[in-house]
Amino acid sequence: MAKRILVAGFMHETNTFSQLPTTLESYKARSLYYGDQVVSQMRGTKTEIAAFIDASQRYGWQTTYPVLANATPSGRVTKETFELISNRIVDTLKDQGPFDGVCLALHGAMVCTHTADGEGELLRRVRQVIGTDVPIAMTLDLHANITDQMARAADIITIYKTYPHIDQYETATEAAGLLQRTLAGEIKPHTVVSRGQLLDGADHGRTTQPGPMLEALASAKLGVGQGDGVLSSSVAAGFPWADIYDSGPSVVVVGDGHSASHKDLADQVMAEIWQSRNRLTIDPWTIEQAIAAIQSAGPRKAPLVLADFADNPGGGGYGDATRLLKAMIDANVQDAVFGLLYDPVAVQTCVEQGLGAHVVVAIGGKIDARYGTPLPVTGHVVAVTDGSLTLQGPMMAGSRICMGPTVVLQVGGIEILITSRRFQLYDLQFFEHANIDPRKKAVVVVKSAHHFRAAFAPIASEVIIVDGGGLTSRNYRQLDYQNVRRPVYPLDLD
Ligand SMILES: [Zn+2]
Repeated sequence: MAKRILVAGFMHETNTFSQLPTTLESYKARSLYYGDQVVSQMRGTKTEIAAFIDASQRYGWQTTYPVLANATPSGRVTKETFELISNRIVDTLKDQGPFDGVCLALHGAMVCTHTADGEGELLRRVRQVIGTDVPIAMTLDLHANITDQMARAADIITIYKTYPHIDQYETATEAAGLLQRTLAGEIKPHTVVSRGQLLDGADHGRTTQPGPMLEALASAKLGVGQGDGVLSSSVAAGFPWADIYDSGPSVVVVGDGHSASHKDLADQVMAEIWQSRNRLTIDPWTIEQAIAAIQSAGPRKAPLVLADFADNPGGGGYGDATRLLKAMIDANVQDAVFGLLYDPVAVQTCVEQGLGAHVVVAIGGKIDARYGTPLPVTGHVVAVTDGSLTLQGPMMAGSRICMGPTVVLQVGGIEILITSRRFQLYDLQFFEHANIDPRKKAVVVVKSAHHFRAAFAPIASEVIIVDGGGLTSRNYRQLDYQNVRRPVYPLDLD
């Protein structure tokens, strides 16, 4: 008889220092699908849900998809939002059960207004319905913070092994395979987790160049299939901008049954992450250094790509910081494109004035005065779009995005892409949907920390990381941590 499986996704990376609450509207602005919509929207994409859909077909599962919810990182998830989405999962388990197994695509850094451990609370409620015997397979983002409650509740945890995250599909394929073996009675998976006294580590998980994360992943992999029943091992670099007790890197080992050696392996890899804590593969530049680099650059066949690292919406940055943009305008930078600046009010002004209009408008800097103020500019509206696009990869290819009304405002030699919804820019389509070819520009600026490399490193003559002091700056000591365990690196230790 076909196994009955529930597959759901509920993701959020919560930056607890952000003043933007995460509401149902935040999920609607990115991905919020129910029932059949989950399959119709996600099938064929390079994501976890698509992998679970394919696994269902491969293993002959009879699968139910109550919800997929994903929102751009921002502040705490409101209780109302958490209840609504988690109830979709929990009520389906109650009303349509019993199920033989559960697959959950989560992030692992969700903080809510009513609980510091969003995923742990969801899992607790799931377990309340299904009991202890039905296996749960869970996938997490490489930047997960993993609590003991999460590890206890899940039988199987697999985590992305790439940053940029280009293996979401493979991560869920591994989890589904282990679940199938569990259902067949071949294995009895048990997950253990190890954490250290670190808030940030493993080079924040970067895997595009040799360094601490690739070394940690290699050490973790050594234990797999060595005869002591290690089924899977993963490294989470953690999400330091979530001020909760357990924030930081961790190592997860899924073993066949209980064995002290599984925890030993996790502890050993965690010790290596502690040893490598001061080794970073990036060295962010100041805005002044970046402008000097632009001005001294000679003719190039490919663009200079700058990452506005400290205002990365992918880590909870507001996406409306203007310090780097202001410096570029002041320096009269030519043949440049800048995206994405989040400012629905400025978009509306530009749309009302119309395509080709000459506008005077204050852009960005409207959410949090700590990170800059609105920037008055005079420019031309050179494009107006509905902000709809389909990602072409390598990350999340096939996924649909709708940024809402979007304009391109030409200010001097800079084309500024301004959107009505917050998104990290990590795919060429964000520019190309507005008929901008970033390959033909001298300078391309993206609000992203690292994900942009998957699509933009191949077209860049050089990549420069700029830390302009925004909400996702690596200067953690500028933030008022209240809840993380102390002492912890780098706030107290070293
Ligand atoms: Zn991540």
